[in-house]
Parts: sequence; structure tokens; C-alpha cells
Amino acid sequence: MLVAGNWKMNKTPSEAVAFVKELIPRLAGAKSEVVVGVPYVAIGGVVDALRGTNIKTAAQNMHYEAKGAYTGEVAADMLKDAGVDYVIIGHSERRQYFGETDVTVNKKVHAAINAKLIPIVCVGESLEEREQGVTAEIVRRQAKIALIGIDRATLLDSKLVVAYEPIWAIGTGKTATNEQADEVCRIIRGLLGEIYGAEAAAKVYILYGGSVTAANAAELFAMPDVDGGLVGGASLKAADFEVIANA
Ligand code: PEP
Repeated sequence: MLVAGNWKMNKTPSEAVAFVKELIPRLAGAKSEVVVGVPYVAIGGVVDALRGTNIKTAAQNMHYEAKGAYTGEVAADMLKDAGVDYVIIGHSERRQYFGETDVTVNKKVHAAINAKLIPIVCVGESLEEREQGVTAEIVRRQAKIALIGIDRATLLDSKLVVAYEPIWAIGTGKTATNEQADEVCRIIRGLLGEIYGAEAAAKVYILYGGSVTAANAAELFAMPDVDGGLVGGASLKAADFEVIANA
């Protein structure tokens, strides 16, 4: 089980450090692996504060090129050197507001793995796509393109994580039902099984994200194909995130 917080564009560097210091004792005995996805400028302080604890740090994005004339961007090696372990790739907000595509997601997956960062690859359908009955096709397509050029050994070595995040459930308070979450996570696992074999597919963490709360996490995470959660709003509240990490 893995529970990853996505703070999005919240908390200054000093607020971030104070917050993770509050999380450390609360999560010391957490049942799941725990990750906090923090803004770039908070990475240094958060990595320092979390050293020697069971909480890992994620970046929320990265560029796919290794270096060069990309003003304002951050490369995978820079994150690794700063002490980051995970990187969220292809979040729907990146796709919606910053032009991220399945192709750039695939490039970022390669760059992250090359830098020994663990990618958390986000996929998910819009409300319109769900109503059109094409959720499975959309999610399979996103996941399949994200993984182009990643072979079985690389997939397993990298510990790549997939997060199913229906766009209509993100930040809306409208959580997918346990069955909806499980069904799509199972579809993703099925795709991984087609590409890499069932044994490899069973080893990949597939998370659900979209209005996970302290109240609904336990039942979502109890579903057979849901291996934890990617948590936005509720990861900004220490007490809620503690409950979710133990769900
Ligand atoms: C997210 O940002 O990935 C997310 C799932 O947000 P929220 O939990 O707030 O819906």
C-alpha cells in the first residue's frame, strides 16, 4: 500500500517544513508507504526534515530533457540530487493547464526512471468521457502511451506507480464509488498484464485519487485492485492524512 499526498501549489517552504515536522510522529507507525508531493521550492527543507523517517518526498512535475535552455524548468537529475524519491507525472491539472500530453508523459517517465526517480503516472477520464462510456479506452490509451519503451525488467526495477484519477473526482468532493475506482484500477492492471504479464502487473501499485478523505479512504483502499491513494486536499491536513495513511 502506498499513500501519496499531492499538495499542489500550497504551502511556502517554511510552512512545508513545519507541516512535515507535524506529520513525522503521526505517521511513524503508518501501515502504508507514505509520500508527500511538495512544491519545488519546498523540496530542500522537506527532504532535510524527513531524513531518517519513513516519509518520502515527491516532486509534482519535472521536465523530460536532462538539461538546457528550458527557462523555469527542472530536470530529473536535479530532483534526484535534491533528495527526491518520487515524481508525479501527467497529473490532470498539468494536462489541462500546461499542455501535457500522453507523449510528454511518456518522455517524462523515461527521464524519471533514468534518474532513478519513481514515477507516479496519473491517468483518468473526464466527466464527458465517462458519460460517453469510453473510460476504459481513455485510461488504457493514456497508460499504454505512458509506458511505451518501458520493458518488463525496467517497469519492475523502477517501482513505477500508476494513479487512476477521474478528473471529475479531483478536488470536487465527488469521490468515485468503491466499485468505480476498483473497476478502473482493474482495467489498468489488466492492461499491464497484457503488456508485461500478470505476475508483473500484480506487483505494480495502482492508486486511486479523487476526493479521498479520512472518511472514505479505508473502504476505497480495501478494494482488491486499489493499492492506496493519491490525495490532494486531505493531504494538507495532518490529522486527515494520518488517518488516510493508516486506512
Ligand atoms: C489530486 O490532486 O491528485 C487529487 C486527487 O486531489 P483531491 O484529493 O483534492 O481530489
